[in-house]
Amino acid sequence: MSDFKRNISLTGDIRFTGLQLKDPMEVSAGMLGVKEALRHGVKEMGIVRSMKALLAMNQEEGFRCPSCAWPVPENPSGIGEYCENGAKALADEATLDKIGADFFQKYSVEQLSRYSDYELNKLGRLTEPMVLRPGKVHYEPISWEEAYNLMAAELQGLDHPDEAIFYTSGRSSNEAAFLYGMFARALGTNNMPDCSNMCHESSGVALSQTLGIGKGSVKVEDLYGADVVLIVGQNPGTNHPRMLSALEKCKKNGGKIISINPLAETGLVKFKNPQKVGAMLGSGTAIADIHLQVKINEDIALAKLLLKKLAALDAQNGEVFDHDFIENYVQGYDTLLKDLDRFDAAELLERTGVPEEKITQVVELLAAKPNIIICWAMGITQHKNAVATIQEYVNILLLKGALGKPFAGTCPVRGHSNVQGDRSVGIMHYVSRELNRRIAENLGFEPPTQAGYDTVGAIKAMYEGNAKVFICLGGNFVMAASDTAYTARAVQNCKLTVQISTKLNRSHLITGETALLLPTFGRSEKDMKQGETQFLTMESSSGKVRRSKGLLKPVSEHIKSEPEIIGMLAHTYFQGAHPMSWKTLACDYEAIRQLIDTTVKGFEKTSERSKGFGYYLPNNVRERDFSRLPNGKAKLTLNALPGHDLKEDELLLMTIRSHDQFNTTIYGLHDRYRGVHNERRVIFLNTRDMEKRGIQKEQVLNLISNYNDKERRAERFLAIPYNIPEGNAAAYFPETNLLVPIDEFADKSRTPISKSIKITLEKVDE
Ligand code: SF4
Repeated sequence: MSDFKRNISLTGDIRFTGLQLKDPMEVSAGMLGVKEALRHGVKEMGIVRSMKALLAMNQEEGFRCPSCAWPVPENPSGIGEYCENGAKALADEATLDKIGADFFQKYSVEQLSRYSDYELNKLGRLTEPMVLRPGKVHYEPISWEEAYNLMAAELQGLDHPDEAIFYTSGRSSNEAAFLYGMFARALGTNNMPDCSNMCHESSGVALSQTLGIGKGSVKVEDLYGADVVLIVGQNPGTNHPRMLSALEKCKKNGGKIISINPLAETGLVKFKNPQKVGAMLGSGTAIADIHLQVKINEDIALAKLLLKKLAALDAQNGEVFDHDFIENYVQGYDTLLKDLDRFDAAELLERTGVPEEKITQVVELLAAKPNIIICWAMGITQHKNAVATIQEYVNILLLKGALGKPFAGTCPVRGHSNVQGDRSVGIMHYVSRELNRRIAENLGFEPPTQAGYDTVGAIKAMYEGNAKVFICLGGNFVMAASDTAYTARAVQNCKLTVQISTKLNRSHLITGETALLLPTFGRSEKDMKQGETQFLTMESSSGKVRRSKGLLKPVSEHIKSEPEIIGMLAHTYFQGAHPMSWKTLACDYEAIRQLIDTTVKGFEKTSERSKGFGYYLPNNVRERDFSRLPNGKAKLTLNALPGHDLKEDELLLMTIRSHDQFNTTIYGLHDRYRGVHNERRVIFLNTRDMEKRGIQKEQVLNLISNYNDKERRAERFLAIPYNIPEGNAAAYFPETNLLVPIDEFADKSRTPISKSIKITLEKVDE
């Protein structure tokens, strides 16, 4: 698949890499996990650099893992407070491989676009600022000063500040994100799409409407003492592996784990704790007590069925729901009970595809136990009805009174390490009147009062020519977004695109007329300012703010930190004609933190309190304070069942990550827990669906989605028979993101529907 400007390929050359299939693994982590972690580290960084970095990752005085946002516990077990995925992320960013001016002189952007995403990522770290000038196909070096001037000139030349878009990935620090968000506002726009728009925006919306805060309420220690933990649409074995240690503790304390997922993910089957020698020698801890293999996007039916059965039991003895909690803190109880009567239990059961005896087991557990935690991830946030789905699960917690007390609550598990912090410090496309007031008071300027573009809105604005400058603070925007071809065309409409990045990815090749590639620090690298090593801060999934201080020698003397790049861009743009001292802030992170403390509610004495294991931001749910909601009470919601309207030959496809992958970054070609080796172009299918269509194992298929009479095709995938519900299918992203139409997103949150794409299969003659 090739694009129009500069003849850029959106997929790289499509070729199979040598699929080897094995049985899915039964035990996660263990010795093999440790071996893989070390193998990646030593291969990319060498022994000395690997050991130095691994010993500092997630430690009190060290740096935060650049991968997911799972919190470090209050009393960590000592060294090795990281997982295989974290070690891979570290190896990936701290690699000794580099690419500079010589490399870009040799390879044009066209040539590079023929590489796969995996191959692009393997090229190494960016070492100096580069520019792709209009009409050219090779990046060439540019000085930092010229780069700042070029950006400032393009921004100054816009007809309106809303023609600029400032995208943020979850890799940034609080300091960089704050500065970036304030620069966008100082310029006059709220066009701040972020990666949240593509993943957990549905959680934010669902929780804000029902509980008054768009974040989870659970601390990692709460998991240890929970009676029941529901893990919904989440694969912690691959995506948040240290969560398994917390679940293991929960099991040891007598807790029960229920996995709700169309796939039986290995991490939830059995786990060998790599931090314990004894555990690695044993057969592993079984994690999930019950697996509900729900069909894709039938969680609302499942949650309603559980609620109906719990309500029936409560009607008998009045002991299932927490009536005191409901009386004092919850609105909508009678209406919800009445609404549940409209649904037929047998129909709900059939929709879920789950055997009735398993539902009964779960109901018995939920009915008997008060301390319940519900964890979830992208498996339920990326559907048309994602907000409703999450709210249906919140209904269970509200009726059980499982909020605002130890060992209970909401746990949306965030994917990227500081995605939550970015939002907390002001990366948002909507307007917060409270934040605007504080900005005017503390920073001395009036921020814009019109909402800006979210991710879908930004893509459409670029596509329609309403935005001309697109700046990305990290990420791989084109590949992460939906409708790859549309998104690529949108980005290519820009006059200037800017990528502040550590490594090359496809979004650096799909550019505007002029493109800048600005290399920045990885988390593990030592950031020296005024002769001292600086620290930055991040917020974990549980809302805790901690320091991160790198220690490795930076990959090049020509790279700059994110705060410095943003501060200097703002300084060049304003030339002193602005109340904020951008040039000073560029190199004084302490000064940035002081501004965060005064400007963002909840942050206080951050420099001091972020020491050690950090401090928690305020969370009203933990306090059982729902005063910010209408009537001052948490809200039960009535949610409709989704209609999938599948045609006879259509399947519902969910995009998934492989085990060698973090978001759009591809570390390797294996997905060893699922038994898939050396290949990413695969589609997981139910055997009955294969038989019905006469599809053989490893047959080559094209995947086709057709929305509003527009066909989108992902070409050449190998069919794999797999334990997945009939009518459902799974394949890796970002390869399949091109099947998701730009206009298909979740109601209210506008998160793309990447977990329920209607597709048909087309056999390819070989
Ligand atoms: S669980 Fe997440 S944050 Fe922790 S080490 Fe693993 S990838 Fe990093």
